[in-house]
Amino acid sequence: MRSPREQIIIEARASGRYRCAKCSYSLAGVPADERGRVICPECGFAMRFVVEVRLARGDDEQIRTRDEALHRGDRMMIIVAVVVLGILGVLALLTVID
Ligand SMILES: [Zn+2]
Repeated sequence: MRSPREQIIIEARASGRYRCAKCSYSLAGVPADERGRVICPECGFAMRFVVEVRLARGDDEQIRTRDEALHRGDRMMIIVAVVVLGILGVLALLTVID
């Protein structure tokens, strides 16, 4: 069974878009050697495949939950601000009346 890395390389190579990093000669159909290197048939430049796998934003449910939590925090801040302003307003009115 192939490793995920090998499978990624096989699928990427099947797309046929690889060119020599030195002379831009097309590497379509050029086999990899026993060490996994690809040797450019035009100039002899040796290359190896580098596979980088990283996580990216993508779990919509998790993002929605986080956004809802943030919005709850915003609503709480607005309620606190309205209460504080109301108290200040009442105090200001009492000061004017006195
Ligand atoms: Zn080349």
